[in-house]
Amino acid sequence: MRIAITGASRGLGRGMGERFLALGHQVGFFARSLAEFEDENQLHKVGDITDAASLESFYLACHEKFGGLDLWINNAGVLKPIKPLRKLELDELRDHFAVNIEGVILGSQCFIKHCREQQTQGVLINISSGAAKKGYHGWGPYCAAKAAVDRITECIALEEAEIGLKALSVAPGIVDTDMQSLIRSTPETDFPSRAKFISLKEQERFNSPEFVADTLLEWVSALQQNQTLDVCLRVPEQYA
Ligand code: NAP
Repeated sequence: MRIAITGASRGLGRGMGERFLALGHQVGFFARSLAEFEDENQLHKVGDITDAASLESFYLACHEKFGGLDLWINNAGVLKPIKPLRKLELDELRDHFAVNIEGVILGSQCFIKHCREQQTQGVLINISSGAAKKGYHGWGPYCAAKAAVDRITECIALEEAEIGLKALSVAPGIVDTDMQSLIRSTPETDFPSRAKFISLKEQERFNSPEFVADTLLEWVSALQQNQTLDVCLRVPEQYA
């Protein structure tokens, strides 16, 4: 498959991309802090998910290199600011929603537009979170944004069914990335559940990016065989 991933300079996005490459897929990586690079099966492009023009240029670079895209993964995301809503500055809130909501919409629009123009049936995956399903003290913007990602993806699935585009919103489970380091280093006054995440680290109870990538590929394959899946899915716990 030909796969594009946003937020692929590190963490889950980078790990999934490397897993896809190891399995023989062609992969486009997109983020702000990448070094531009390409070889036979991969392309690394610098860009910001809040900028529609840089997403378009990423799509076109992938299209030129791979001859099209079968799967687009909107993975880029931020957790900050972690603090009670009463302490939030409006600019912090806007910056958060610009990445986690507007960025997901812009990435989705870019992929949908090209699937429509080329009359191809792609799969779109938006990376959500368990935080979409319930509130966490200190994660107000993140919980709101990920719930929005779930609802937006459900709307896309309905709106684009007529062209055969499939859309999933996927909570990947807990993956040990910089985002988890940030959680473990946040003062309990701003994030009282911190001890739970420190304990998960002590037990190494994480989903690996490779496990998440393999699960996504299973679901994409099911969709390509016209099996029906819920739009909002959660990757099971690898070490359950
Ligand atoms: P991470 O280690 O902090 O990595 C975030 C990635 O997003 C980086 O590659 C970053 O690249 C990119 N990014 C952030 N803002 C961007 C922007 N404006 N434009 C382009 N790229 C941007 O986080 P992660 O844990 O891998 O998270 C990946 C996704 O999984 C996120 O959507 C997150 O909400 C979700 N998730 C993670 C966990 C977990 O336990 N880790 C759990 C549930 C859901 P640059 O800074 O180089 O741009």
